[in-house]
Amino acid sequence: MPMTLMSNYARLPVTFVKGEGAWLWDTQGTRYLDAIAGIAVCGLGHAHPAITTAICQQAQQLLHTSNLYGIAHQQALADALIQITNLDRAFFCNSGAEANEAAIKIARLYGHSRGIDLPTIIVTEGSFHGRTLATLTATGNPKMQAGFAPLMPGFIRVPYNDIDAIAQLAEQHSEIVAILVEPVTGEGGIVIPDPDYLLNLRTLCDRHQWLLMLDEIQTGMGRTGQWFAYQETGILPDVLSLAKGLGNGVPIGACLARGPAAAIFQPGHHGSTFGGNPLVCRVALAVIQTIEQENLLPRVQALSQRFYDGFSKALASISGVRKIRVKGLMIGIELDRPGYPLMSKALEHRLLINVTAERVIRLLPPLIISDAQADEIITTVSQLLREFFNSPVIH
Ligand SMILES: *Cc1c(COP(=O)(O)O)cnc(C)c1O
Repeated sequence: MPMTLMSNYARLPVTFVKGEGAWLWDTQGTRYLDAIAGIAVCGLGHAHPAITTAICQQAQQLLHTSNLYGIAHQQALADALIQITNLDRAFFCNSGAEANEAAIKIARLYGHSRGIDLPTIIVTEGSFHGRTLATLTATGNPKMQAGFAPLMPGFIRVPYNDIDAIAQLAEQHSEIVAILVEPVTGEGGIVIPDPDYLLNLRTLCDRHQWLLMLDEIQTGMGRTGQWFAYQETGILPDVLSLAKGLGNGVPIGACLARGPAAAIFQPGHHGSTFGGNPLVCRVALAVIQTIEQENLLPRVQALSQRFYDGFSKALASISGVRKIRVKGLMIGIELDRPGYPLMSKALEHRLLINVTAERVIRLLPPLIISDAQADEIITTVSQLLREFFNSPVIH
């Protein structure tokens, strides 16, 4: 094939042309079970009728006018998200990285408004916040950062799930204005922090007047069995970034905020040409309505238990499996060695899985999968792992 695409992706040798629910079909007409949902994007699966209808109807009416004018669907989506989250205001953009960029800009304005000249944001090891320069700097993965120096000033890093490290920083630095953190790491390997981690972060932020900024781009929109992962803890963040599952495949991101953080942006401070256009907002509204109508949050909780029980039983006798971590429909199976070959092995078994942080099988199935499909994922992954650990290690 001619090299007309840049080489920044290591793609698997398959191309999909059609989808329905949790199924995908490739160019040969072969059917695959999708346990990754476009990386937590297609929560409602592929070609959901409610989403298809929303796209078609909106395309017949109006796609885009720009933020020079009022946009009814953008206002309606903001209302819906504010009602779900208990936050105050929304800004719309086109991706997760952009949602975090908005959060970072809010934190900097907030810092300057408090007389802090070099506003600094606490971020964590093993985090992922995006690929733009600021969000790459925030990302706690030296491999992704390699070659892109100079990175951005204004970030300071601590280990994930380590409250003491942050409490110590508070003593040493007077320029800290915010903490940016994922409630469960996604790319970092489905690491689930202590149950009181967010609550302790909230307490520290209140004590020092820092903004608590949660990156729920992967954990949000029902993925963990709540609309947003923080809702299980009883706290509220000051800033919340979302994207991925919000549009079920149309590109949309959002930065929500509460209190002083919500009132920081003034005309001219930030913007996006495409951000929050009539099409994507209409679709995101349909996503929210469908999650409600199909009562998917309790369904995710039930499926979560099914995966946890199923994998615990099926993988118990495989000594190369170190840990099974499940939060809603974020499933991580940590191995004792690099697991990347498992992705192409799974493909041969007509199953789409992902491996992240080198040793962690990551499953992010659509929220609409059936019990039978969940069981098929458990059976196939377990079979793959039995084969993988019986085979000699190839270096
Ligand atoms: C995917 C992801 C991002 C980046 O989103 P893009 O849409 O790829 O820019 C940021 N944070 C988290 C937690 C993510 O999972």
